[in-house]
Amino acid sequence: MSGGANNFSRTQHIAPEFAARVLRGAPMSKHTSWHAGGPADLFFTPRDTGDLAAFIRQLPPDLPLLWIGLGSNLLVRDGGVRGAVISTHGALGTLERSSATRIHAGAGVPCARIARQCVKWGLGPAEFFAGIPGTLGGALAMNAGAWGSETWTHVIEVEVIDRRGTRRTRKPADYEIGYRRVLGPADEWFVGARLEFERKAGVNEAAIRDLLERRKQTQPIGEWSCGSVFINPPGEHAARLIESAGLKGLRIGDASVSEKHANFIINHGAACAADFEALILQVQRTVAAVHGIELATEVRIVGDPA
Ligand SMILES: Cc1cc2nc3c(=O)[nH]c(=O)nc-3n(C[C@H](O)[C@H](O)[C@H](O)COP(=O)(O)OP(=O)(O)OC[C@H]3O[C@@H](n4cnc5c(N)ncnc54)[C@H](O)[C@@H]3O)c2cc1C
Repeated sequence: MSGGANNFSRTQHIAPEFAARVLRGAPMSKHTSWHAGGPADLFFTPRDTGDLAAFIRQLPPDLPLLWIGLGSNLLVRDGGVRGAVISTHGALGTLERSSATRIHAGAGVPCARIARQCVKWGLGPAEFFAGIPGTLGGALAMNAGAWGSETWTHVIEVEVIDRRGTRRTRKPADYEIGYRRVLGPADEWFVGARLEFERKAGVNEAAIRDLLERRKQTQPIGEWSCGSVFINPPGEHAARLIESAGLKGLRIGDASVSEKHANFIINHGAACAADFEALILQVQRTVAAVHGIELATEVRIVGDPA
């Protein structure tokens, strides 16, 4: 993002009905699972989609917008975010069954809640959502997945909102969807989705507990991370490439490559975004030198350097 001073003056004019609910200079370290990141010029949590549309409409039309869910796949640089951050966490939270096999969920619904509720409804396979510590909006943006299942396999349609605050529904055919990759119309964001699952007689909470337990054995769950930092290259595992390049435990500042799972980078308490970025670069350079493979990041890197 660019035009710092320019954006700053444009963020001064917020309609009076929103002024008291907009946080200025909110530290993004409080909104990311890596617990790093500088301040956002504006930070807004809508009450519902109508409120969201009204908020977007009163913003200067070219003010940059960053959407976040639970910030579990986000590296916000130390200089923070120019423009407005729209947070769906704690908002856009409807979750209902719309037919025997279909559900409707708001973009702010945590994936774990979808997993649990689908089990109660006897629908699956939605258990894979249990281990993804993000919102449905983030899962739609990332095509999040686990254990062989992916978000977009289940999408019937999505509801989006654009820069003018106009809402519409779109079909999966409107997007180019791949492994952790979703390309769609620019300047549109997800506010909800209709998902389809199968009737799964006998599915119960034990299946979720089992998946979470398997995760705990192989991943540093409970530590500050953003999950897998790098995308698995075709036919390879990023973790294997990093580990065999001797990088487990490599540390810059308070950030290090996890000893438990080499595709995770841990914040030991005081790591800043620059530490993560430097470590990411060093891992990429070393893996390229040792294996001749360029690792691309799965984590989204946003904002200005300090
Ligand atoms: C311990 C751990 C384990 C993880 N395991 C997995 C896993 O098994 N599989 C997996 O796929 N991921 C995994 N992740 C990564 C992460 O949880 C997923 O990518 C998740 O989908 C991100 O959701 P979020 O709400 O946190 O998105 P955020 O991190 O807030 O945002 C991620 C991206 O989505 C965009 N975005 C967010 N909301 C919207 C919206 N409403 N509309 C448009 N764009 C939006 C953001 O702008 C950003 O580009 C893991 C992370 C952690 C910390």
